[in-house]
Amino acid sequence: MRKIDLSNFQVATSETARDINRRILLSLIRKHQPVSRADLSRHSGLQRSTVSSITGELIAERWVTEGAVHDLPRGRKPTFLHLNAARSGIFGINVRPFTTNLALADWAGRFLVQETLPTPASPKEFVGQISQRIRELSKLHPQMTYEGLGVSLPGRIDPYTQRFVFAPNLGWEREREDLKQQLEASTGLAVELENEANACALSEFWFGKHLEGVRNIIAVAVSEGIGVGMVLNGQLVRGPSGVAGEFGHVTIRDDGPKCACGNHGCWEVYGSNSAALRFYREKTSRRKRQGPAGLRLPTAAEFEALLARAERGDALAGEAIDEMAHHLGSGFAMLVTGLAPDLIVVVGEITRLWSRVEPIINREIRRRSFTHAATRIMASGPATRPRLRGIIAFVLQKRFGAPPII
Ligand SMILES: [Zn+2]
Repeated sequence: MRKIDLSNFQVATSETARDINRRILLSLIRKHQPVSRADLSRHSGLQRSTVSSITGELIAERWVTEGAVHDLPRGRKPTFLHLNAARSGIFGINVRPFTTNLALADWAGRFLVQETLPTPASPKEFVGQISQRIRELSKLHPQMTYEGLGVSLPGRIDPYTQRFVFAPNLGWEREREDLKQQLEASTGLAVELENEANACALSEFWFGKHLEGVRNIIAVAVSEGIGVGMVLNGQLVRGPSGVAGEFGHVTIRDDGPKCACGNHGCWEVYGSNSAALRFYREKTSRRKRQGPAGLRLPTAAEFEALLARAERGDALAGEAIDEMAHHLGSGFAMLVTGLAPDLIVVVGEITRLWSRVEPIINREIRRRSFTHAATRIMASGPATRPRLRGIIAFVLQKRFGAPPII
């Protein structure tokens, strides 16, 4: 139950019930397509006449199409409905410190185009390059209208002002504040900026293979740092300024190395890809001192090389990965004990060695968490492209999501 926010509410109008039912039917069509009107009535509990009226409207607006008549052995032959996936496209961009992915998805969330480019050095170059590519892709798909552009970023963005609040691993110190406005002006699309871990949590929530009814999902994005995104009670949790979920910057050791955020001994300086590479350098170096005390951002290739060494049986590389997994597990124990979600999904290159790291993570959770929270831990493979999928889900939820009433 939610308390009514008396500083920000919308009263119900005569359209409210219809809007809610429309979103429910659209979501049911998405889930059960191809589906007949009779089945929609059964799934929703709405009267046939209401279903016919709303689906008629959805067909007229081209959100839904009527498919071929199914051959049934006898009786009436219902016409089946499905989403008109080709009606609208959504652009999704995943910005990481070294590489940027761009995707065009159809309205059902399927990727039509996926490309990778080096992350431009400045926001200005980013806006220029991305806008040009979007214009070219739009010309290739002239039948589509575009719902918007979602950008997943390694930083936290104030949900009200859409300005960066906290982005220690992004770079782009200058010119980044007006990113949303610059992209909107340059592409003509509605632009949404979102944190990458939040995008991963949304991806699992909208597209994951978990059971319907799972409403508490935490995504842990393990890369150069550690980002945590939370969907609790079916809602993304951002906090008043957008920085909720920064467990990666919680101190786990007072005397730990300096972190990019300014603090010392953060979880991410022990459980991230950067940490594993540091452990490996420490193990292989005869020198006592390891260059600068802080973390250096590794490229994905450096971490992939470490994973490959561990896979080939290099003992020191394996130990570095195990140490990283140990620290990941102790942080997971904090999440399990403190938030008790249904599911924690791990995103990142480390999942390639899941059979090695999963038992270490589970051991740490068992050793440190005694609340009997029934949290499942699972890996999201890179093939699912969770950041891109999640940022597309973020744009899609405007049509499919629950309406923002009271
Ligand atoms: Zn930190």
